[in-house]
Amino acid sequence: MPYPDSAGSPQKAAYIHVPFCIFKCGYCDFNSFPGMESLFDDYVDALIREIIRTGREQQHANRLDSVYFGGGTPTVLPTDKLINILAAIGDTFGLAEDCEITLEANPGTVDQRKLALLRSAGFNRLSLGMQSLDDEFLSAIGRIHTAREALDAYVWARSSGFANIGIDLIFALPRQTLQHWKSALNTVVSMDPEHISLYELSIEEGTKFAELCAKGQLDLPDEELRLEMYEAAIAMLTAAGYEHYEVSNFARPGFRSRHNQVYWRNEPYFGFGAGATSYVNGVRSVRLSDPRRYVEAINREEDPVEFSERLTGRNRLAETLIQGLRLLEGVDLRRFRDDTGVDAIDAFHEEISSLVRNGLVEISEDRLRVTHKGLLLMNDVAVELIPA
Ligand code: SF4
Repeated sequence: MPYPDSAGSPQKAAYIHVPFCIFKCGYCDFNSFPGMESLFDDYVDALIREIIRTGREQQHANRLDSVYFGGGTPTVLPTDKLINILAAIGDTFGLAEDCEITLEANPGTVDQRKLALLRSAGFNRLSLGMQSLDDEFLSAIGRIHTAREALDAYVWARSSGFANIGIDLIFALPRQTLQHWKSALNTVVSMDPEHISLYELSIEEGTKFAELCAKGQLDLPDEELRLEMYEAAIAMLTAAGYEHYEVSNFARPGFRSRHNQVYWRNEPYFGFGAGATSYVNGVRSVRLSDPRRYVEAINREEDPVEFSERLTGRNRLAETLIQGLRLLEGVDLRRFRDDTGVDAIDAFHEEISSLVRNGLVEISEDRLRVTHKGLLLMNDVAVELIPA
């Protein structure tokens, strides 16, 4: 069967990666490096050059309706540097009037003045990495801030005019009980953020936690407790009026993350900076992850891309289904047909039948979506759909 090989509509989103942190958290396998302050100036110059160069190559690009600064810890950069990067993006591509401009912030790296300046410069959505509201857990996982500082950052963000704030929390931390977790959720709900993301702690190779785990020094909640924590969160947050719209994400009506929906719908986007991925004209490209090598490549006028692949045929369709199934509204099968020219149910007949038989997905009203059981077993859903 012939499959289409382009990614459809032009990109309207851009991701900017800031690969710097003050300290490496014990669980973290993101592309982030502490102790690189001396590279900040050169890195920002290189980033801006990459943005401008891409703009010249993509002259037909749409104005952007989402810009996302992630990391690492973007807020370790001086305020004027963040503002300069945003200005370069705006000058190069243009920003839609209602562009969602998100900044990830570590509570240990912001103060009232910084947040107010960033808000005035156009950042309009703040994603606060609180992770826990208990100093004992924060210290155990290597965060640089206390619970008090996280709460202060939230209050400062509000008083600086951020009307769209997301809070990230991690659950299944070492020695965390269901009571601890519920108490953190209660506190967060009482703060009334627009968006809440919940991530289950996973032990990734190469991290300090992987070492501790191998030595039997991490007292992690068992599978049953982790499921209980996730289910308790769903119950508490939906009862508090949050829409559970993606496996890990909850939002007040009208406040879903526009940027992340681009990923979940497998739509195209620009990516800039060390380790950043882009998906442009059907090609997924990953930039050099080492910030120094990234800067050197840009300075030599070379392409800073380390790896790229054209997503074609069945792989692209499978990826669209896997990403789309993360959204609780599921995959719109009519739209899938219109965008790809392929009927998903026919193309993945065997895989989808097996998932339906096992109670992991269901088809209704021309949508394919995960069941509650499928939501708890997302990996099994993805594994079934990945082409052999
Ligand atoms: S602040 Fe975030 S990116 Fe930096 S080390 Fe911690 S988890 Fe990783």
